[in-house]
Amino acid sequence: MDCVFCEIIAGKKDCFKIYEDENVLAFLDINPVVEGHTLVMPKRHVERLEDLSDEEAVFVLRAIKRVVKLLLKKLQADGYNVVVNAGRIAGQEILHLHFHVFPRKSGDGGLFTPKEIDLERVYRKIMD
Ligand code: AMP
Repeated sequence: MDCVFCEIIAGKKDCFKIYEDENVLAFLDINPVVEGHTLVMPKRHVERLEDLSDEEAVFVLRAIKRVVKLLLKKLQADGYNVVVNAGRIAGQEILHLHFHVFPRKSGDGGLFTPKEIDLERVYRKIMD
């Protein structure tokens, strides 16, 4: 298996899982640019959004909505960005479709620099 996200989905690699259903998994990004930076992805390995069936796209969007609600509530965020990088040209590093969810608060320093954020502390805040 040469996809790191497939390894996480298969339970062969650890992650801070914040949401899971039959078709979708969401966990904290290992290099967060804001507190609660989360990746939401289909369990089936596809590279890009257009590779999903319409039905799968609905499953993923529904999961994003749930993750957004959870993050807004638990982190007291004021808003969020949802971003997909599709293709190397767009900065996609891992070729397994994933949506970045960035909870936003004033003074969060913006999305462009990785921050020193204790993932375990954020995970407890979200899941408690
Ligand atoms: P992208 O550039 O959209 O492909 O983003 C890939 C993201 O995956 C980056 O933000 C990485 O920090 C994140 N990432 C890579 N490996 C892991 C991992 N093992 N667990 C959680 N996030 C990861």
